[in-house]
Amino acid sequence: MSDKIDRTDAEWRARLSPDQYRICREKGTERAFTGPYYANKAPGIYRCAGCGAELFDARHKYDSGSGWPSFWQPLASAPVASERDTSLGMARVEVHCDRCGSHLGHVFEDGPRPTGLRYCINSASLDFAPAGEPADIPPGTPS
Ligand code: FE
Repeated sequence: MSDKIDRTDAEWRARLSPDQYRICREKGTERAFTGPYYANKAPGIYRCAGCGAELFDARHKYDSGSGWPSFWQPLASAPVASERDTSLGMARVEVHCDRCGSHLGHVFEDGPRPTGLRYCINSASLDFAPAGEPADIPPGTPS
């Protein structure tokens, strides 16, 4: 999965909801405890809302109490990249999808074992695919 996704701004605006555009493309943040996934405990895979790349497994998700979906590690194959972020007067590590450039959230070093990491991710940056329901196959498609 090394193919980079390069879309124009107009394409991103057409593809994403206004909230998703603000968060994914302008590095915004959803308000805590408002996204659809922070309390989701169902098994499955979280994909990038921008390009569909598989990023996180529900097995690595935990309740951090932060109000945002929290994971202690991405999938081994996930195109999750990080960069230093000093906005808002804080030194943080921003994480984004390296395939399409969409902002995901931040990673902090106060997570649980075994990694000690907390990937604090916006629900708006994710698209949850429940286990056993391949998201790429439309309902009713003959198998
Ligand atoms: Fe992506």
